[in-house]
Amino acid sequence: MAMEAHEDVPALLVALCRQFYGLGWVSGTGGGISVRAAEGIWMAPSGVQKERIAVEDLFLLDRNELDRAVVVRPARNPELRVSECQPLFYNAYRLRDAGAVIHSHSIWAVVAAALFVSDARHGGTFRCQGLEMQKGLRGKGCFDELVIPIIPNTPREAELREAMAAAMNEHPDVDAVLVSGHGLYVWGRDWVQAKTQAECLDFLFRAVVELHRSGLAPRSGG
Ligand code: ZN
Repeated sequence: MAMEAHEDVPALLVALCRQFYGLGWVSGTGGGISVRAAEGIWMAPSGVQKERIAVEDLFLLDRNELDRAVVVRPARNPELRVSECQPLFYNAYRLRDAGAVIHSHSIWAVVAAALFVSDARHGGTFRCQGLEMQKGLRGKGCFDELVIPIIPNTPREAELREAMAAAMNEHPDVDAVLVSGHGLYVWGRDWVQAKTQAECLDFLFRAVVELHRSGLAPRSGG
């Protein structure tokens, strides 16, 4: 589904932040979302209560300058800063021509990654197979093996940039990168596909964790 030209992207971002807060994806001021619209790239500020964001708190950035953040219209409050996730969101815009990117701090992403990588300083891969919700992911069937790269966490969010880009280049068939002990970056051609894939992945992470806890999931690889 393509984004309508008249769509109110700032209002959409505010609504999605509330919804993602309800899902536990952006609690404790973590996580975030960015959408690339005709007028530029919309992004929430850093370190704020995501469920209380207003449209005046959003930043608008130049959609054609993807090597650095060029603010076209800052948030109204001068104390607000562009999201710490900005370089990671730009990875998806630059390397995959994404239309929207979601960063989730979901507990299910964290625990699922920990099933495959026990130390948050290391990377690896998350794997699952045979689950219906895999069909919500680009190019995946329910009997395919889904492999999502896991990169090591870093003290600062922006320091994830190069490892995320390398993982994206190594795994061109998926639109997501897990960060060990931290969460998930997931994107799509538009906000609808990004949100759909984020929801399907969260389901799959939870399913794998619960199946593993029940002794039902023979997890592969590492
Ligand atoms: Zn984060």
